[in-house]
Parts: sequence; structure tokens; C-alpha cells
Amino acid sequence: MTYYECGACGQLADFADAHGRTLRRECPVCESETTWETAFTDERTGVSF
Ligand SMILES: [Zn+2]
Repeated sequence: MTYYECGACGQLADFADAHGRTLRRECPVCESETTWETAFTDERTGVSF
């Protein structure tokens, strides 16, 4: 499962049907469409960059 972080407020959410590093979704906190970036994925452990 991939968790995304709202670029505007930092809210975390998991979009089960979402793929890719970034996407645009309606943020329930911002109450508008924002850019979400991948925060972390729990399918892989020990991910390093
Ligand atoms: Zn937000």
C-alpha cells in the first residue's frame, strides 16, 4: 500500500487505486484539489535513496 502526503497540508492518505510518485486528488483537509506525493510504501521495507 502506498501512502501519499498532501503537498499543501501534510495530510497522509492511502489511495489504493493510485500509482506513481505524484497525483492530484481532492484533499479532505484543504477541501480542494492538491498535489499529493508519495510519503512511503509499506510493501517494501528498508527503502533507501
Ligand atoms: Zn491538504
